Amino acid sequence: MKLFNEGLEWYSSLADKAIHGTRLTLKEGTAILEADDEDILSIMQTAFRVRHHFYGKKVKLNMIMNAKSGLCPEDCGYCSQSIVSTAPVSKYSMLDKESLLAGAREAMARKAGTYCIVASGKGPTDRELDQVIEAVQEITRTMPLKICACLGILKQDQAQRLAEAGVHRYNHNINTSKDNYPSITTTHTYDQRIETVQIAQSHGMSPCSGVIIGMGETNEEIVEMAYALRELDADSIPVNFLNPIPGTPLEGEKRVTPIRALKVLALFRFICPSKEIRVAGGRELNLRSLQPLSLYAANSIFVGDYLTTEGQDVTADHQMIEDLGFEIEMCALSTV
Ligand code: SF4
Repeated sequence: MKLFNEGLEWYSSLADKAIHGTRLTLKEGTAILEADDEDILSIMQTAFRVRHHFYGKKVKLNMIMNAKSGLCPEDCGYCSQSIVSTAPVSKYSMLDKESLLAGAREAMARKAGTYCIVASGKGPTDRELDQVIEAVQEITRTMPLKICACLGILKQDQAQRLAEAGVHRYNHNINTSKDNYPSITTTHTYDQRIETVQIAQSHGMSPCSGVIIGMGETNEEIVEMAYALRELDADSIPVNFLNPIPGTPLEGEKRVTPIRALKVLALFRFICPSKEIRVAGGRELNLRSLQPLSLYAANSIFVGDYLTTEGQDVTADHQMIEDLGFEIEMCALSTV
């Protein structure tokens, strides 16, 4: 049963609330996710009004470097690098400085403003941290790139070292709701993830934390995830859509439909209106031909490949942005 009389006017009232900083209610949030698919253009039109208010037509590009792959003792059900996955993935230890620098140059070539150094594992060893820090210092000295590190659960002193080295942002996703968390991962907790985001934040790094949609969560739980990220004050929110990789425990999950993915992105724009909402992993697979519409709610994408799955060609992403009449936001940092 519909709780609201949806229509352009009603969605427009949600956009007004969002722009004025009022949080949508749980009923309003779930109503977006449960809306008739025929409402999708009204939903995206009003989500665009919010996105445009804060970001105009600018699109931020991020590039991922899989700095350490496989070999992870954790059991995250969606992840092909976990100890319980039989998916054939590359396995290597932390890349050396030259390889991380080469990745940064590639990020520049792809017009990415942020270079994301991502490592598998529960958390970094001191030696791994040294390697990342050495590369980060060189990159920030020589290239106008922001660095986002994603190295797992962090201790206070590790966060401090990363911040001092010039890491601008730290990513640690909440991934799913607190209630759904134990059905996805048992080797660490939702609360440990929240704690790492807060530790990174307390040392001055910009918090990046997001979700993976399509892991058995309810509509209410999706709204609660958006509330949790609003409460955490995450500056950057990657919204991933599950790619059910064969060999992972979640290989049998049904794909998210393109229209549902759009509704989720609009919901995150309404609940976290001023934040960088990124259409992240699973974009090509789940949104398919509707990918361009996602940028009416989101203002950020990854260019190139994801950790262990392929993204679309970077020229296709640049073309999509140009065709929409949007523009790539280049990094404002200047090198010293
Ligand atoms: S998501 Fe990270 S912590 Fe979890 S299994 Fe994959 S690499 Fe390990």
